[in-house]
Amino acid sequence: MQAEFRRAFIENARRRGSNLILALDTTDWNKAQRVLAEAADNITAVKVHPEHADIWGFSHESAILTLKRLGNGVPVILDAKIADIDKNNAMKTEYYLTKGYDAIISHGFQGEKAVEAVLASANKLKKGVFLLAAMSSPGHMFKKEVVEEIAAIANKLDVAGVIAPGNQYDLLSSIRKLVGENILILSPGIGAQGGDAEKAFKAGANFAIVGRSIVDSANPAEESLKLKNVLGGNMPLC
Ligand code: C5P
Repeated sequence: MQAEFRRAFIENARRRGSNLILALDTTDWNKAQRVLAEAADNITAVKVHPEHADIWGFSHESAILTLKRLGNGVPVILDAKIADIDKNNAMKTEYYLTKGYDAIISHGFQGEKAVEAVLASANKLKKGVFLLAAMSSPGHMFKKEVVEEIAAIANKLDVAGVIAPGNQYDLLSSIRKLVGENILILSPGIGAQGGDAEKAFKAGANFAIVGRSIVDSANPAEESLKLKNVLGGNMPLC
């Protein structure tokens, strides 16, 4: 099922001609609407946090529908960073994905069994799972062994993709080696967190997740177009 989601996600990226995922990180709904509408032609997906719908004054269902309308049908990824025991991971994943999100981001450090529960719920609903292989924040505690084990879980369970830092190129390329060529790598940390899109793609990223560089720019359309063009031509082959 995750392989199917992966194919559809790549197909969507090809259709939209973009490898750029917009992290719509603003609590201001007017700003969120404007940024998404302006960047819509240049992005392949939008990523939000579980709190956004409520902060913006929507139910999850209507937030998703509105985001899709503003974003020309863009897939909506939920950055839930699921990190609990298996039973509660299943509950959380099912709760969010039945609202209409297309994919969910889960931690991996809680271990294989707990990740398997996320996957089982997502597979039932034919939705995607992205596993966090490492953080992009300074001082993060994802040591080499932890990253290797999470990558092994990603491989074994064949998740749609992993999230790996676009501002730490050595770590990113080691994660690419660990997960092989098929599993997608989505990389945050580009722009505001110091990462360079071209370097991140050379190190193995397939998609860039970008928030502040677009959301806080004076011209989100121009900024997202610039990023889309930098990433262009790096469409995953798998
Ligand atoms: O504003 P910026 O481009 O730094 O935003 C990056 C986005 O990616 C944020 O939404 C953040 O929550 C998310 N993220 C991250 N590092 C991770 C996982 C997710 O920055 N390892």
